[in-house]
Amino acid sequence: MIGNGKLHITFNTESIISGSCDRCLTDVSFKVPVSVDETIQVSDGEVVPDEELGPYSFVDGEDIDVDELILNEILVNFPAKILCQDDCKGICPVCGKNRNIEPCGCDDTVLDPRMAQFLDVFNSFKEVK
Ligand SMILES: [Zn+2]
Ligand SMILES: [Zn+2]
Repeated sequence: MIGNGKLHITFNTESIISGSCDRCLTDVSFKVPVSVDETIQVSDGEVVPDEELGPYSFVDGEDIDVDELILNEILVNFPAKILCQDDCKGICPVCGKNRNIEPCGCDDTVLDPRMAQFLDVFNSFKEVK
C-alpha cells in the first residue's frame, strides 16, 4: 500500500457459524454468506479515513484486517433467530422434552391468567360432580 489511489476489496465467501437453537437449544451450525465490497482511499501510503464514518475499523496502519472485514459482514447477515429448523417445535414448557424428538402431548396452551383461574374453578366444579 504505497502511493495514492483507491483500493477496492471484494470477495465472496461464506462462514459457518455454530450456535444453539433459540427454541430447543440443540447445537446447530449454519452458513452465513459473506460478501465484502469496500473501497478505501490511500494517500501517501496511508489510508484516508472515510469522510462520514471516520477511520476504518478493519484497517490498522498499513494492514487490512480481513478477519475484521469478514466479522463485520457476518454481524450484518447474522440471523435474528437461530433455529435448527424453520418449524422447530422447541422444548415443552410443561415437561421439558425436546418436542422435535418426542411429541409429549402436554397441553401448553398459554392461558390468560384469569381464564386459567376460571378453568380451575371449572375443574373443581367437575370434581365435585
Ligand atoms: Zn430447535
Ligand atoms: Zn411436555
